[in-house]
Amino acid sequence: RAGSDVTITVGAKNETFALFSAEKPHDWCIPFSVDGNPPPALRWLFNGSALVQGKYIRTKIVEYEHNSTVVHGCLYLNGPTHVNNGNYTLLAHNPLGADARTVLGRFMDNPFTKPRLPSGPVDRTASPPSLQVSVAVALAVFACLFLSIMLIVLNKCGRHSKFGAAVLAQDDDIAMSLHFMNLGSSPQSSAESKLEGLKTNFIENPQYFCDSCVHHIKRRDIVLKWELGEGAFGKVFLAECYNLIPEQEKMLVAVKALKEATESARLDFQREAELLTVLQHEHIVRFYGVCTDGEPLVMVFEYMKHGDLNRFLRSHGPDAKILDNGNGQSFGQLTLSQMLQIATQIASGMVYLASLHFVHRDLATRNCLVGRSLVVKIGDFGMSRDIYSTDYYRVGGRTMLPIRWMPPESILYRKFTAESDIWSFGVVLWEIFTYGKQPWYQLSNTEAIECITQGRELERPRTCPSEVYDIMQGCWQREPQQRQNIKEIHSRLQALVKTPPVYLDVLG
Ligand code: AMP
Repeated sequence: RAGSDVTITVGAKNETFALFSAEKPHDWCIPFSVDGNPPPALRWLFNGSALVQGKYIRTKIVEYEHNSTVVHGCLYLNGPTHVNNGNYTLLAHNPLGADARTVLGRFMDNPFTKPRLPSGPVDRTASPPSLQVSVAVALAVFACLFLSIMLIVLNKCGRHSKFGAAVLAQDDDIAMSLHFMNLGSSPQSSAESKLEGLKTNFIENPQYFCDSCVHHIKRRDIVLKWELGEGAFGKVFLAECYNLIPEQEKMLVAVKALKEATESARLDFQREAELLTVLQHEHIVRFYGVCTDGEPLVMVFEYMKHGDLNRFLRSHGPDAKILDNGNGQSFGQLTLSQMLQIATQIASGMVYLASLHFVHRDLATRNCLVGRSLVVKIGDFGMSRDIYSTDYYRVGGRTMLPIRWMPPESILYRKFTAESDIWSFGVVLWEIFTYGKQPWYQLSNTEAIECITQGRELERPRTCPSEVYDIMQGCWQREPQQRQNIKEIHSRLQALVKTPPVYLDVLG
């Protein structure tokens, strides 16, 4: 159309925010439409001040309407947290006019305080209260809808998977027939299960407590950036931490916030912190300390930029394109040499744990983390995770067990030893060479238990050289004493890294 004034709509036609995963996971979009000729210049204010845009907050025009001067766009926010709550004002102007619209963005409650309504100076350029209220209501409705959809999807996945169905139908039968872990009957949350797992872990590793050596970090020195994930203990955030090490004024860290602070949860938190303080090795994720002045209790770890190894493997395998998170840091499909490097690093961490007579009990790729330059570290010493809940088998309503990673003696008699960790290491090798497949993925829990206890082995993955499969089989000897020791395994892997074997990928 001919030269015209500017008009804006923010919050889209139905005034809701939308979560867009097409661009990047965790990207939120504040949709807007602008009409004006010549095309107006756009600018955003956040709580009345200029909004600084960059990698994590950016404006993008997503659609130009055909034969029209109207454009539709998004203000994308990547993984917004409570610090991003506030008024977003879009200013648009061209030589013929200007317009401004404001919406209230409310992404997350401050995890460091009790929930409260966002405060701050009143924005005089803001839209009429009715618009703000309707956008806030729309946002709340959207959040509920999103949660419901997620629940439906999760439920559906559970029902579709053989595994989920089997657990629902056969949980109690198994708990009775395998007499080992009937610990009681009260239902337990996954966090409680995790704590239960940790307690046992601690009982088996009692000498690793050091009450006085846990480093305490001040809450004011931790500035949360955004959420990285969620485990059974609570949310994990990327944060900036000040005054942590002398060489750097501030550095990126991963912060784990404990979601429930019951007396027993606090005790377990303290115990885990003491244990983590003692474990120090280049292939064990570095633990910096705790922050306990106020709620929630948090643990501070080194930040491993590629997240957990299972996800990393899946996004660097044959399905990489589908799962690529669009952060432009794709390594492509992992090579044999990279797989060997990953395995060797985990073996090195395990040699260290074994030297301390520490029994991990839950070694799996989901519990390892990947940092820059393909550095891999063992990163979780508890049991059970929400997002990987199908990897665990709930027995008798209380305990969650990673049965697919467990040897027969752990399944049958609940015996966890350095040798049972070696069995799990063999399964980790299998995970690496299958780009993160779930062991016995084709079987239900009960079928997997049957196979393992009857002595059936996981098959050689297509891309796995026989030298590596030999190592796996050395880990899966039925007699614990006959399993190879972790030092030998580590040396064999180191040798393979130096001279990688040639392998033929069997077609079919
Ligand atoms: P967890 O509570 O350990 O189960 O962690 C939940 C998720 O948070 C994991 O799957 C990772 O994606 C992420 N995460 C945990 N720790 C770190 C870390 N140190 N660096 C980066 N991401 C992490």
